[in-house]
Amino acid sequence: VIPRHVAILGATGSIGVSTLDVVLRHPERFRVHALSAHSRMDELAAQAAVSGAAVVVVPDAAAHARFRDAWTRVGQGAGPQVRVGADALAETAADPDCDTVMAAIVGAAGLPAALAAARAGKRVLLANKEALVAAGSLFMQAAADSGAELLPIDSEHNAIFQCLPAVGAQAARAPARGVRRLVLTASGGPFRTRALETLAEITPEQACAHPNWSMGRKISVDSATMLNKGLEVIEAHWLFAMPAERLSVLIHPQSVVHSMVEYDDGSVLAQLGQPDMRTPIAYGLGYPQRIDAGVGPLDLARIGRLDFEEPDLARFPCLGLAWDALRAGQAACIALNAANEVAVEAFLQERLRYTDIAAVIGDVLDAAQTGGGRLDVLADVLALDAHARALAAERLRMRARG
Ligand code: NDP
Ligand code: MG
Repeated sequence: VIPRHVAILGATGSIGVSTLDVVLRHPERFRVHALSAHSRMDELAAQAAVSGAAVVVVPDAAAHARFRDAWTRVGQGAGPQVRVGADALAETAADPDCDTVMAAIVGAAGLPAALAAARAGKRVLLANKEALVAAGSLFMQAAADSGAELLPIDSEHNAIFQCLPAVGAQAARAPARGVRRLVLTASGGPFRTRALETLAEITPEQACAHPNWSMGRKISVDSATMLNKGLEVIEAHWLFAMPAERLSVLIHPQSVVHSMVEYDDGSVLAQLGQPDMRTPIAYGLGYPQRIDAGVGPLDLARIGRLDFEEPDLARFPCLGLAWDALRAGQAACIALNAANEVAVEAFLQERLRYTDIAAVIGDVLDAAQTGGGRLDVLADVLALDAHARALAAERLRMRARG
């Protein structure tokens, strides 16, 4: 096999660590070209040392110095080339020396690099759902124009991709033939059955303790509010060219069925597996071959039963807001995502109550300019994102006073 040269953007995060785990299981198949990190320089240096990465990308000069210092402790020789700054991320994503890019930075901060990989015609392993939520039309058009392969890593979208007719990994321009509906499953998070009147007291630690999945803090909070599922509905809309009315969400607390595709003849295909992101990551890395992900067999006899229920929008108002944003259009989706990023950060820093996350997002959606058509210029997307962040910050100040 000709090895793939992989760049892992967001290498020190939950998805990044799982990606490196799968990559290092197959030294004949993969070489690590580049790794990026934002704050965890000790971890980055250790990853660079074990993987032999040619390049690392860090945010600024201070991080560069910390990386160099860490390298003297864990590495040998001169070490990787160090590139500095946000532009270096997009540059590395488009590097001719790599053919595969794992987009695993969290939040809209990962958008320029993910887009650069799509424009450069790479195999893009897309974990960074916020990039598609904010810039779906731009991103899908870039992938279609360049012929990039787009492999969804989000477990639901990876499941749907596996259950759709095999038409290749090029960007979809129309819904797959014969498909009636896509059903995204959701665990319902840690608060699916908690008494509604106690939701305001939820702490960051409680919100980050997901019953089935181990993930970064931001997506863990999103899973608790189910805004994550809302982002995923918007993500599915773009990835599979599906209109809102042919997308649906079903709560499935065991997280064994990762999502389903319903066909015109009544057949429903589902993908099942353990809640371990190495399975979708390995699928994307090895596609179209199946490779070992280090994940053991699924023991259905032990799991015993699979339950399903409709989501309750009174318990999960963020999910309703996301449906509203999808129907309103791209500017509303940008505002939804940006407001959520600001609100979740404030919640994690104990500056905002859990139940006020939805309130802030709702306020921003009301105040932001959310009309208009397709947004096909990155600068326009980034300007709307910045505007929504400013509105969200203002709402936070008002809530702190009130
Ligand atoms: P983590 O918070 O664990 O990791 C985020 C990564 O991005 C880290 O490497 C971090 O660096 C880096 N990073 C953070 N902020 C910036 C920034 N401003 N600029 C550049 N790099 C930055 O997140 P996850 O791995 O959980 O999630 C990553 C993405 O994948 C998200 O979009 C999430 O929605 C998606 N996803 C995650 C799943 C999961 O199971 N975790 C499942 C499905 C999707 P450092 O740590 O060094 O600061
Ligand atoms: Mg998911």
